[in-house]
Amino acid sequence: MKSQPIVKLSNALKPYAWGSHTLLSDFEGRPPASHPEAERWMGTHPAAPSRVSPEQTLQEHRRAQGHPTGELPWLLKVLAARQPLSLQAHPNEAQAREGYAREQAQGLALDAPTRSYKDPHAKPELIVALSEFSALCGFLQTDAMIARLSDSGVDAIDGPLRDARTMPEPEALAFLLRTWITGPVEPRRDALIRFVSRNEARLRAQTPWIFAVISSFEGDPTALIALMLHHVTLSPGEGLYLEAGVMHAYLGGLGVELMGPSDNVLRGGLTPKHVDPEELQKVLRFEPSRVQPLTASGSDARAAWRTPGAPFELAQTRVKGKGAWDEGPTDEIVLCTEGSVRLGELTLRRGESAYLAQGSGPREVWGEGCVMRASGSIG
Ligand SMILES: [Zn+2]
Repeated sequence: MKSQPIVKLSNALKPYAWGSHTLLSDFEGRPPASHPEAERWMGTHPAAPSRVSPEQTLQEHRRAQGHPTGELPWLLKVLAARQPLSLQAHPNEAQAREGYAREQAQGLALDAPTRSYKDPHAKPELIVALSEFSALCGFLQTDAMIARLSDSGVDAIDGPLRDARTMPEPEALAFLLRTWITGPVEPRRDALIRFVSRNEARLRAQTPWIFAVISSFEGDPTALIALMLHHVTLSPGEGLYLEAGVMHAYLGGLGVELMGPSDNVLRGGLTPKHVDPEELQKVLRFEPSRVQPLTASGSDARAAWRTPGAPFELAQTRVKGKGAWDEGPTDEIVLCTEGSVRLGELTLRRGESAYLAQGSGPREVWGEGCVMRASGSIG
C-alpha cells in the first residue's frame, strides 16, 4: 500500500447530557446543535475511533502502515461542558492493575454499570482551556476548608469540622470526605439544604460557582464535597495536569483534553452514573494541592505544557506565514485551534485535525493560526 504520511481525520462526537449546544459547533464553524455536544474524540479508542476514510479507521490505517496493533497510547479530545461533570479521581498504574484484576475475578462484565475498572491502565489527563474554563481540582488545606465552611449553624457540618481541627492534615481530609460522602443519603441531603439556606450570602460572596453545582444536581448531597476543593478559572491557553489520586470536576467551558488510554474513573458524586465512594477513597491522595495553572513554555514554533511522567505530550505551534517544528519521536495528531493552516497537501480549519506518521518528513505549516499537537510513546 502507498504510504500516506499525513491524513485528515474524521472524528466521532459524544453527545453526553452535560455537553453544550453551542461551544463545539461555534468552534467547528457550524450552526448551534439541536442536542448537547460534549466531546469530539481523536485517536484509536474502540468506543469512538477516528477514521481516515469511510472505509478505514485510524487504527486500521496505522496497522496497514506497519504498526503491530495500530493503537495510539493516548486519546485527544475537544471537550465542551455546559454543566458540571462528575466529581472524580483516577487510579495510578498499580491501583488500576489491581482493581481490574479484582473485577475480572469477580466476573463483572466490562460494560456492567457497577464496573469501576475498565482496563489495567492509569489515566493521567491534561486539560487546556480554549475558552474561559472553570474546574474544581485538589483539596484545600484543612484550615482554608474550615474558614470556608465552619460556624454554619448546621451540626452535621460544624461537628466534623471541629473534630478535624485536632487531626493531622491527611487524616482530617480523609475523615471529612468519609463523613460527607458515605452513610444514608437523607440526613446528608438535609444538612446540605440547611447549610445553603443559612449561609447563602457567604456562599454567594466566596464560592458563587457552588450554586451552579447544586442546581445541576438538585438534592445530591455530594455537592458538599465540592466545597473541599480549589476552584480554578483557566484563561484560554492555561492548563491543568491531573495526576492519579487528585479529586476534580470540570464545571464549564471549552477545552482540549489529552489523556492516557484508559476509562478508569472513580466517581464520588454529582452524576447519575455509578458512584463508588469506597473505591474512590482508596485511590485519593489525602493531601492539600497547590493548584497552579500551567502555560505552554517555549517559542511560537514549539511550546509545550509540562506533564512529567505522562505517556503523552501536548505542544502548540503558532504560525503567521510559514511555521515549522521538529519532528518528535512518535506519531502525532494535529488539531487546528485557531485560523486555518496548510499542512502538506491538506488545509486544516479550526476544529479540523490530521494524523502525521513518524518519519513523514519536515513538519511545515503555512497560513495564519494555531495548531495543538498531541504525541507520545508508541506502545
Ligand atoms: Zn478526570
